[in-house]
Amino acid sequence: MESDLYPIVEKWLKKSHLCFKTAINKGLKKYSIIDVTGVKDVGGDLSGEVETIAVEVKRGTEPFAKASGQTLANKVYANRIYLADIRDESFSRDEIYIASHLGIGLIQIQNKECKEVLSSPYYKPIEKLNLLLLENLRLGKCQFCGSFFEISDAEQKNRTTNEKLKKALDDEKGLRFWNREVAKRKKKLGVRNVSDDIESFERRFICPDCIYYFFSQFKVND
Ligand SMILES: [Zn+2]
Repeated sequence: MESDLYPIVEKWLKKSHLCFKTAINKGLKKYSIIDVTGVKDVGGDLSGEVETIAVEVKRGTEPFAKASGQTLANKVYANRIYLADIRDESFSRDEIYIASHLGIGLIQIQNKECKEVLSSPYYKPIEKLNLLLLENLRLGKCQFCGSFFEISDAEQKNRTTNEKLKKALDDEKGLRFWNREVAKRKKKLGVRNVSDDIESFERRFICPDCIYYFFSQFKVND
């Protein structure tokens, strides 16, 4: 089964690409689901920049150009895109030409091991799709330090409070707040359909570190 290969690729993303977050079968249901996704830190000491890697996994039976096209579609979500396929020998010369022509990376799966044969170029994904994907992986962007952090834990328990700074400080959590002005604008122009009882879908986050080490220095009253 193709899905039997997902954990092999996931393990490789952790080990070889040093991804701090990986996931299987995540994406936006409306558009497509990515077989294996990884997120890694690439920002150096001065930024919390991350890169999203999307891997399309095949079990060696799919027509190559078709699988490559499917892989390419993932650049709407991710910064780097790979096709991982089973090959006893390496990929053929033509396959490598096709992959480099399209701009996708190639991973050879052989004996439950992965090997990067061709690296992926860097892409700038559609930001809203990338952020929605990351949110699906429980990662939110801190509006203050710009880093990505876990907005909930594995049991789906929130690691942020809802606009309650004092509670965030007491519970050592981050903060989630809602932008009303942008929501109003989008509602007015029909960019985002908002029902009357929901004021805003515009969620923004501040990470626990920024709350604890910076915002805690402001005196907070109830
Ligand atoms: Zn922060």
